[in-house]
Amino acid sequence: PSPLRMRKALGRFASGVTIVTTAESEDEASVHGMTANAFTSVSLDPPLVLVSIANRAKMNAKIGETGRYGVSILAGDQEPLSLHFAGATSEPDLVRFTWRKGVPLLDGALVHLSCTVTDSHLAGDHTLHVGRVEELWYDDGRPLLFYTGSFRALDLQGGDEHWG
Ligand code: FAD
Ligand code: NAD
Repeated sequence: PSPLRMRKALGRFASGVTIVTTAESEDEASVHGMTANAFTSVSLDPPLVLVSIANRAKMNAKIGETGRYGVSILAGDQEPLSLHFAGATSEPDLVRFTWRKGVPLLDGALVHLSCTVTDSHLAGDHTLHVGRVEELWYDDGRPLLFYTGSFRALDLQGGDEHWG
């Protein structure tokens, strides 16, 4: 299949939206962030997640250098941050970091994960960075969703809250 058909098909797999962050030091000037929806839970024991980062993204080399990354799972009102960290808009005034285990994370997110890279696997034009979750924090609230190339909101009034 062509890249366009891949995007059309895989865009029908609804996801949340994260900002992946990393920093060389606890100096805020060394922080780099980017928007990613290719994030998944991998293992509970040990606690592992992964992010798939384009080889040409600046983030890819930076994670290779720092060996650590943060994942902030965005809340429903954080679409502007998602666009900012994808380079689609510039909204630096909206960006506020909280630090956990020496890793920067985005204020206002639903979930924060601080991870140490255990393995990095080259996979085509992306690299899969498996991270051991060192610390996490979560809150309740609506998530930001991404589906068929658009941002969406979860309708909690529609009954989704009764599932499980
Ligand atoms: P840049 O493009 O240079 O940086 C990204 C943006 O973040 C820039 O606007 C920059 O100014 C800003 N920024 C970075 N650090 C800071 C800071 N400390 N303070 C303030 N602003 C800062 N790509 C993938 O590889 N994997 C994915 O899973 C993925 N999922 C995506 C999901 C969605 C919904 C979208 C919209 C895009 C996704 N992308 C994904 C594409 C990716 O977000 C962009 O290609 C991104 O621009 C790559 O970032 P970069 O590391 O090359 O750095
Ligand atoms: P889109 O229609 O390109 O995205 C639909 C789906 O296609 C995504 O959820 C993802 O599963 C897949 N996809 C898209 N681009 C990909 C890529 N370069 N590598 C691997 N899978 C990819 O959505 P859009 O609104 O046109 O996206 C905005 C920008 O963000 C585009 O430049 C897109 O390439 C990029 N993006 C990249 C990834 C990724 O690298 N994994 C994921 C989503 C979006």
